[in-house]
Amino acid sequence: MVVLLKFCELFCTTQLKTLQIINPFTSLSRFCHFVSKPGFNSLDPSSPLRPKITKNNVAIFWDLDNKPPNSFPPYNTAVKLKAAMASFGVVRYMVAYANHHAFTHVPQVVREQRKERKILNQLENRGVIKTVEPYLCRVCGRNFYSNEKFVNHFKQIHEREQIKRLNQIESARGKMRVKLVAKYSMKMEKYKNAVRDVLTPKVGYGLADELKRAGFWVHTVSNKPQAADVALKNHMVGMMDRRRVECMVLVSDDSDFVDVLKEAKLRCLKTVVVGDMNDGALKRVADAGFSWSEILMGKAKKEAESVVGKWKDRDILKRLEWTYNPEVEKKVNDLEDEVVEETQNVDFEGNVSG
Ligand SMILES: [Zn+2]
Repeated sequence: MVVLLKFCELFCTTQLKTLQIINPFTSLSRFCHFVSKPGFNSLDPSSPLRPKITKNNVAIFWDLDNKPPNSFPPYNTAVKLKAAMASFGVVRYMVAYANHHAFTHVPQVVREQRKERKILNQLENRGVIKTVEPYLCRVCGRNFYSNEKFVNHFKQIHEREQIKRLNQIESARGKMRVKLVAKYSMKMEKYKNAVRDVLTPKVGYGLADELKRAGFWVHTVSNKPQAADVALKNHMVGMMDRRRVECMVLVSDDSDFVDVLKEAKLRCLKTVVVGDMNDGALKRVADAGFSWSEILMGKAKKEAESVVGKWKDRDILKRLEWTYNPEVEKKVNDLEDEVVEETQNVDFEGNVSG
């Protein structure tokens, strides 16, 4: 028994040493400039130091200052963007940055729609035109034949109720607050879903809310020039450092991001750019580039599949690539001599990924 234990001990320690030298991550650093972090070679999967091995995780970084959805409805645009980028892997992070101006700005298209609605309301009130389908209140289910009456009803009843609920939650503390949130959650959700089609947002056209609804983490920066760029770049680099993603998607035409994309490529990450400048600096650096219209029309999805195919081929070629490093090879050979015969049959790769 003691002999067996000793053997196990020897087996494990030698195996650990061997793994540290020839595990696939170390060999990867021969052509990538990853700096191995402490704990990265740890065999314990539950270790907090062990970073998650990311496979095909995609992060979308949206420079809203440079590429706002403008004439397109923000929610639909964001959903389509996510759908197209899902061809590259699992979209785990969606981040959008802009200064206050982007969120308070109302695009021309939206302004025209609002004007049109105003004229229609006036005509309805004078009895010149009549709506074929009544306006349905999605909170209480009542029907209205005048848009103005419908909006007034919504404001006087449902908006007031919502404000009351929010105030109650705001002034409650501890358990009471939790109870209230639970009690009102359904009603508040119903209101939120209905309000966006009825009331005009007080500021802007609801860009931030719509992007959040589509799953984006939206961040407002100060109005200083380049503030969004700097924040976005820091976020990208931070994510690279923590190696959370395998594929980085940047929505921008701003050539200031060239360096970040180059850095991502050096770190063996895949890069995708979404923008309108077809011959722009960013698209020349990135592995793949799409235009806004390709995303919105769903064309990008098809093209993405062929890009992924190319990436797979490239990965296989990289794995076949073999560079001779006398020092590493010597260490491996020395250790192999020390290891008892049985360990030679151990599937190292299986141990790591397992
Ligand atoms: Zn109602």
